Amino acid sequence: MTTTCPCNPNKLFSECCQPLLIKQRVAKTPVQLMRSRYSAYALGGYGEYLLETWLPSDASNLTAVDLSVRSFDWQGLTILRKSQQGDVGQVEFQARFVEHQGQQSVHHEKSLFRRIAGRWYYAGVAET
Ligand SMILES: [Zn+2]
Repeated sequence: MTTTCPCNPNKLFSECCQPLLIKQRVAKTPVQLMRSRYSAYALGGYGEYLLETWLPSDASNLTAVDLSVRSFDWQGLTILRKSQQGDVGQVEFQARFVEHQGQQSVHHEKSLFRRIAGRWYYAGVAET
């Protein structure tokens, strides 16, 4: 069975985010990490991955169990802008989802990423 990736309908899950989610590979860029985290939310069940790729100081109230819950029906991801300076990266994106009442909605965020010891982490929402 071939499945397309939640983050990109033109790519296979097995060749896109899956290797990151099952820890065969680590994200090489903030955008890769961003995509894999989106896919983790979209699929559900990857709370541990979400927690491990989140800067500890920002994720102190979160648990892998909470993060494994598929809270919304995520419909697709669009990367709007990306930038990187050394060990700091920013990714601005829109993620489409369906709310509990069935309304279409968009989550728009500029995320901050930091590289520590060669690995990228989600560091919360960037200040604008
Ligand atoms: Zn993907």
